Amino acid sequence: MSKAEFICIHCPVGCKIIVENEEIMGNECKRGEEYVIQEMKNAKRILTTTVFIEGEQRMLPVKSDGEIPKELIKDCMRELAKVKARLPVKRGDVIYKTSTGINIIATRSMEKKQE
Ligand code: SF4
Repeated sequence: MSKAEFICIHCPVGCKIIVENEEIMGNECKRGEEYVIQEMKNAKRILTTTVFIEGEQRMLPVKSDGEIPKELIKDCMRELAKVKARLPVKRGDVIYKTSTGINIIATRSMEKKQE
């Protein structure tokens, strides 16, 4: 007998979905069922984080421009710890291409600090 619990992240309702003996329960709509099936097969996430900026103390907020398999998120974070973005950047600029092939893009525009 197997049992697993999930919280659906596709809308603010956040249904608690239980999968027991291949039966899916607790989802208010079809999207919850699809989410659980996807999570059990191959969980993926959009990665949001910050990276260093060359020559500055500030950090640049970034995100992946696609979903990354959950088990590769740590590897991506390790790669991003070595990245230094060069200002100026515009929101949506590609800052880095991860080993998964997914791009990391700036989520806001930033100018160099005036000296
Ligand atoms: S199952 Fe449907 S209603 Fe429930 S959180 Fe997911 S998307 Fe929202």
